[in-house]
Amino acid sequence: MIFDKILNRLIDLELIKRDEIQRIDAMHMIADIAIPTVVALVKKGVREILKPLKGQKPKVYEDLIKKIDADEYAREKVNHADEGRLDIEKRKKKLVKVVTEARVVLKELEGVAVNRELRKRMEMLRRILCENVNEFGGKIQEREYKDKPKDLLVSPIDEDARYGAKSDTKRFMGYKANVTESVENHFITNVEVMRGNKREAETAVQLVIEQKRNGLVPQKLVGDAGYSDGINRKMLKDNGTIMVAPLRQVNARAQAVYPKSMFTINEETQTLKCPQGVETTSRYRDVRHGLKQFHFPIGKCRVCKVQKECTNEKDGRRVVGISMFNKELREAEVYNTTDEFKKDMKLRPPIEGKLSELTRYHGLRRARYRGLVKVQLQSLFTAAAVNIKRWIKLILAGLTRQTDAIVAF
Ligand code: SF4
Repeated sequence: MIFDKILNRLIDLELIKRDEIQRIDAMHMIADIAIPTVVALVKKGVREILKPLKGQKPKVYEDLIKKIDADEYAREKVNHADEGRLDIEKRKKKLVKVVTEARVVLKELEGVAVNRELRKRMEMLRRILCENVNEFGGKIQEREYKDKPKDLLVSPIDEDARYGAKSDTKRFMGYKANVTESVENHFITNVEVMRGNKREAETAVQLVIEQKRNGLVPQKLVGDAGYSDGINRKMLKDNGTIMVAPLRQVNARAQAVYPKSMFTINEETQTLKCPQGVETTSRYRDVRHGLKQFHFPIGKCRVCKVQKECTNEKDGRRVVGISMFNKELREAEVYNTTDEFKKDMKLRPPIEGKLSELTRYHGLRRARYRGLVKVQLQSLFTAAAVNIKRWIKLILAGLTRQTDAIVAF
């Protein structure tokens, strides 16, 4: 409400125009938690169950702590960093111990009537064990990072924090915040926080559509290649906004063959024509990637004079994946060759300065709270403060101009 009130006032004063072009970019936020080892994670999971159990079911609790080493789950022990410093062999033994005890806890509570919150915590412990631990022939061991699920729970204290990537080599644990900014007066028009493992593009449409409540419908949204998905373009177009972003680079394998733009799709008959005039209707839907895969007849491809340039498939056939948003992507391909696109893209870099201001001067690099909802609140309060600062700066600049004019007169 506070953010919106300030934004509405800026719109009323025409410091932000209703259809003004906006730019978008994302930044990472580090979660307000220590990165636990798997041993610490399991112990935290057990502690989160034991704490409420003691009050809710004292008898069950008393019986249970006789079957495990209860001291291990005392507050100081769970929060202690020693586990991380143990040598590898000791760490492995400790993992076996805490995993075995965690399973005892879950087994003992099977069939016990507990409240919803406690059931949720039991589910969380099951999830921690399932995501992080393997058992082969009775041998308990930690899963390798590559074998852990993408949506890995990293802490029972902050259930929404996730591992994310800043680049191919740098990782962080926490959240991402997507920010939109007006291009003329550099005001933040919306902020949306998401889990760290999400792609930037995932909340881009929501960020723009939410602005309708303030009466804002930007004519264009300028971003980097991370926002160039066909689905984004389509949904924003339906909202009245054109997404301006470079198309993603195709991978080396795809670069070596004829590009998709050399193939012509007939939307009515759902046929695809190749550069040699061969048509195919053979296709299947790749729902996961939002593609229709067209297969050209193997007999035609094998005798084709440009086969080497067209395909590098082992069986010699060309397969072309056409996005369900092919129309939007092809339109973008054409637009991205124009001078207007180059002019638009020059509007994008200044948002880096805004993100830098949010992180360096207003602490948005670190989440002050835990959980998506509270981190979202932190982002909106910070954005509101930054907008007020910018507003004051413009007022002062206006006053200086007036004073200069009076002095000159
Ligand atoms: S290889 Fe197949 S798909 Fe490619 S141009 Fe030749 S006939 Fe067409």
